[in-house]
Amino acid sequence: MRPTRITVEPVARLIDELGRLPGVGPKSASRMAYFLLRAPREQALALAEAVIEVKDRIVLCSRCFNITELNPCAVCQDTTRDQSLICVVEEPLDVLALDRTGEYRGLYHVLHGAISPVDGIGTDKLRIRELVERVERERPTEVILATNPNIEGDATAMYIARQLAATGVTISRPASGLPVGGDLEYADEITLGRALAGRRAL
Ligand SMILES: [Zn+2]
Repeated sequence: MRPTRITVEPVARLIDELGRLPGVGPKSASRMAYFLLRAPREQALALAEAVIEVKDRIVLCSRCFNITELNPCAVCQDTTRDQSLICVVEEPLDVLALDRTGEYRGLYHVLHGAISPVDGIGTDKLRIRELVERVERERPTEVILATNPNIEGDATAMYIARQLAATGVTISRPASGLPVGGDLEYADEITLGRALAGRRAL
């Protein structure tokens, strides 16, 4: 005799959706789903509303492609920042990490990832074409390639350097000293600040 299959569709769907989040395995997804099932209605709705608000209110800045509620974003609108410097990063979180160092007061350009053939991320999925156009248009004096110090980040930096070569802009990469293979966003402020201050031309 086959056991009866008990599936409660809405719960299965929630587990399914939570399981798609990065770092969440099937076990954690089930635990979260049953937590939400038992949680007060207001708490569960607050989570749902926060998700909707992020999708409805957050856009990408048309100049630097960072996430923002206002376009252009606050960084791009800040005229006290050095307009001749563009720091290229992989993710919006990297902008926060670099700004926290207090070592950098220029502008940013967010790629939204790094070249990674195994994950199917080619150059067309990143904001590289937009960066080249921006450099040609804005003519900064220096572009700092602050992609992560790992294989994907290095490959991305090398590719961008080649794309920008014809523009004649100075291209630099933060100094070594960052944890190799690590993510920029996890580096401490002092290490990150030093790496940025000691950057070298490519
Ligand atoms: Zn911006």
